Parts: sequence; structure tokens; C-alpha cells
Amino acid sequence: MSMSWTASRLHADAVIMILTRMSEALLQMKRALILRLILVSLVGGALAEAADVLKVTASWNLPSSEKGIRQAVGKAKELGFNAYAFTGFHRSAILADECRKQGLFSIRVIEPLRKQPDARLQVIEKGEETWPGFVPVGSDSLYQHGGEPLPQHPEISTHELVCPRDAGVVEYAVSEVRKASSNGFDGVCWDFLGYRNYRSCACADCLAALAEYQAKHSDLPADQAKAAFYEDGLVDLYAKLYAATKEVNPKMTVLSHVLPPYLPNLFYGRRVKVDYCAMTVCWFLQPHWPLDKVTERTRITVQGPYANAGTIGMPMIGYYNSGEMAPHRRSAERVLQELQIVAEQGARSVMICELGDILADPAVSEAVRKGLAAIR
Ligand SMILES: [Zn+2]
Repeated sequence: MSMSWTASRLHADAVIMILTRMSEALLQMKRALILRLILVSLVGGALAEAADVLKVTASWNLPSSEKGIRQAVGKAKELGFNAYAFTGFHRSAILADECRKQGLFSIRVIEPLRKQPDARLQVIEKGEETWPGFVPVGSDSLYQHGGEPLPQHPEISTHELVCPRDAGVVEYAVSEVRKASSNGFDGVCWDFLGYRNYRSCACADCLAALAEYQAKHSDLPADQAKAAFYEDGLVDLYAKLYAATKEVNPKMTVLSHVLPPYLPNLFYGRRVKVDYCAMTVCWFLQPHWPLDKVTERTRITVQGPYANAGTIGMPMIGYYNSGEMAPHRRSAERVLQELQIVAEQGARSVMICELGDILADPAVSEAVRKGLAAIR
């Protein structure tokens, strides 16, 4: 290798590095600009000036009375959240109204695969009938309730979910989006959009389509073709839901918390069509994820790369400390560390739930307030 070749190679590397940094900076600017535009169009200039990082919380352990909700929105704001996601327990227009009054971005959580009369339910595979989640979970302390199952401890979701290929799925989701839109919500967030067994659906319709797909992709080993088929099924559904939502209301922002996990590709969320993609970087339950895993998941969530230009990765932190979830409590110091990781990784958005449990512990509330302030 000659000196001149090495020198020109070094020069080329330097140029590439500079170009890469410039394009990364441009991409970041573009994302910040897009977010600002979304916020300006939806909630006016005040919030957009104050914050271009979306900081979302959600609650399901708080009173769902009108008074309780109004107070919860105020408390979320005090901690530094600028967005509130409402679950199925809270259906009223009061929520969006209260958020608007207090300057928060309002989000309606929608479960497109929620069990419906006449809908075709997902079918698990042979052998899975003995797994926790299909059989009662009971006092199974290793059960992850929709988080990634532990090694050597297979499980499925307790939620009966509709097959993603069922013709009624988009129709049902659109009816919920319409309600959210007419109630004045700024955004919708998909939840429980996945497979009950975290990998497949063995209904007759899916099996027939899978056989066709495998025949078409005979170059792929059968298991790879199967994984691609079921992953594509979710990606396709996301695309349909996005298009249908924007048809109802072009200003509606679309988020998703990628759940349950899709085990053949834990990061398939990078392919789906959403404005904000929340991927879990720290799960609610014991055993608590080591901080290096939190860092790695956050890095992937923030950096993507995302298949759809404009998608912003949203690190999602789960937190419980009360009721039967009390043994899963993490300390205030630990929660602050998690949020500091999110800040250090340059996140442009963050989600941390559950608000009722955060508020139940003053030290954790303070850690959240401090941690959120560091994410800018
Ligand atoms: Zn199916």
C-alpha cells in the first residue's frame, strides 16, 4: 500500500465523515422542523416554542372521574410532560379539552386488534396451549405481561387478539379514530398491535396465505419465509391504518407503542408507518433490564434507521410500584439513570408510564421531573 494511496484514502475517509455528520445534522434539523410543524398545526405556537421534544405519559391507575382526569393532566404537566395518552378507561372529550386548556398534546390509545363480536380471533400454534397466558398466569413471577419473555420461559399474551388479516380491523380502528378526532384529540397511539404468541397466527386464512407466500419465496428456508410473512403482515396493517387515519383527519398524529413484541425481529418497529414509534427500552417488571440493555435499546430506538422518512423513535420506559406490581418497583435513582440514558442518546421524544405509580412516590416523581428536563 503506497503512502499516497493511504493519504488519499485518509482524505476520502475524512470527507465521508464530514458528509455523514452534515447529513445527520440535516436529518436532525429536518425531524425537529417536522415536529415543530406538527405541533404548530395542532396546538398552536405556544407549545411548539416551548418544546420540540414530545414527552408522553399515560395512566390507568388513576381515578377516571372528570375531576381525577383534570387533576392528572395538571400533575403530568408539573412533572414536565407535554403529552398525555388516554387508554380505553377514559373515553370522554373532557380529556382532550383539559389537555388543550393546559397546553398538552392529547393522544387517544386505540387497540386495532381488540376482540370484537364477529371478528376472527388469532389462533395459537400447536404446543402453545400449555404456555402461561393461554393457561392462567396465577402467581407466575416470571410472566412478563406483554414484555419480552424470559429465556427458557415461553409465554403468550393473555389478550385474545383479532387476526391482523381480518377485514374488519381497519374499519374498527377507523371508527375509533373518528371518535378521537371528533373529541378533539391531537393524536392516536396504536397498542396491542401484534400476535398473541409473539410470532404468528395459525387461523385458516393466515395458513393459506402463508403457504402461498412460501411457494412464491421457495428460495428462502421455510422458517425465514414464515418470519417474513408474519412481519410483513404487521407492516402492511400499519400502512393501512396510517392511510385511513390521515383520511379521517390529515392533522392527526399517529403514534404506536410496539407491543406485544415480535420475537423473530424485535426491531420491526423501524419498518412501520407512524409519526412516532415507541419501542420499549426498559420494561415494567422484574427482572429489571440491565442499564447496558436500556442503553442499547435506546440507541436503536433513537437512531433507527427508520424505513419511513419522518418517523421519530420514542424510547418507552415502563414503571410500576403499587398494588400487586409493588415487587417490581425500581428506585428513584434508577429511574433517573434511565432518563439520563434517553437524554444522552439524543432522543427527540420519550414515553414513560404509568403516571399513577410515578405520582405515588415523591422521590420517583422528582426523578422523572429532573430526567425529563434533561431531554431537550
Ligand atoms: Zn390469522
